[in-house]
Amino acid sequence: MLSEREIIDRLRRQAARVGPGLRLGIGDDCAVLDPPGPGRLTLITTDTLMEGVHFDLAWHPPELLGRKAVAVNVSDIAASGGESRFALLSLAVPPGLAVEVLEGLTRGIMEALTRHRLTLIGGDTVASKGGLALSVTVLGEAAEGRVLYRSGARPGDLIWVSGGLGLAALGLAICREGRVELGRRYPELLAAHLDPAPEAALGPALAASGLVSAMIDMSDGLATDLAQIGAESGVGARVFAERLPLPDSVREAAASLGLDPLPLAISGGEDYRLLFTSPPEAAGRLGGLARLACGGQLFAVGEVVAGAGVRLEAEGRVTDIAFKGYDHFRGP
Ligand code: ADP
Ligand code: MG
Repeated sequence: MLSEREIIDRLRRQAARVGPGLRLGIGDDCAVLDPPGPGRLTLITTDTLMEGVHFDLAWHPPELLGRKAVAVNVSDIAASGGESRFALLSLAVPPGLAVEVLEGLTRGIMEALTRHRLTLIGGDTVASKGGLALSVTVLGEAAEGRVLYRSGARPGDLIWVSGGLGLAALGLAICREGRVELGRRYPELLAAHLDPAPEAALGPALAASGLVSAMIDMSDGLATDLAQIGAESGVGARVFAERLPLPDSVREAAASLGLDPLPLAISGGEDYRLLFTSPPEAAGRLGGLARLACGGQLFAVGEVVAGAGVRLEAEGRVTDIAFKGYDHFRGP
């Protein structure tokens, strides 16, 4: 078992102590940062992954878990239109946690920090009497006037998602049911749950384009996250089932598991794609922008309407799906 000091030392050796915008990193009571440049704003977000709630070490490789803890925060910064710069890491470690788990975890965290060009500037390490918990805080930056909020959607706007839906929910189902052969056949589903890739480039590109009115990253599922935009913007939404991007892997794996892919696409959380709205006349320019920023594709799945609620139109039937995603205090 590594001591608290050894864990911190290991992280510290890999983290810069000074750098652009950073007066002092790990090692003192506080990290010290310069204010961002003129006309720039600081964005801050935090997310906790709790053993037994958000992950299960029975199937989650520690290295990928470490990457995910960083990635979900980078996703939040990107959803506000920002670029991630600095990270803080709090670890609650149960006694007797295998040293390989801790090593894998720190390796994964460091990999993700490097990939997203983040500097680790501090954190906290404590003993846990429950499970393992990882809490990451990320500080990012955006140009003033280019930050995107949930509150900007207007009736008539189009609703977009930046990639396939339901992948992470199926990846989780495959892990839970121990369907190793399905995992091998559809590695992108496993990856969506175990090792999600945030829209780190697309988020700031959409914000800089000035074409987007509201944005959120999908962590709780389309229905709930769209309801958040609706509630903050004071509008409703109409989603068309046949326009939802359901990759073949989602349809096929769902069939193998005896699941209906549509509810997974609507309520399955954790896909970490961007969900955003734009005035209809921006549609043409948005497509080109996504290809340039990340080689990805955007899908127009519905429209913003006056009023409230999120309605799904499927085969001529209309259902209210607002807040039909995952809620930690209610369960699925
Ligand atoms: P304090 O007790 O004053 O909070 P600590 O001994 O907890 O100080 O931490 C010493 C230094 O190590 C601080 O700079 C802190 O930010 C950093 N640190 C502690 N745990 C972590 C961690 N898990 N990841 C990154 N930095 C950490
Ligand atoms: Mg401390």
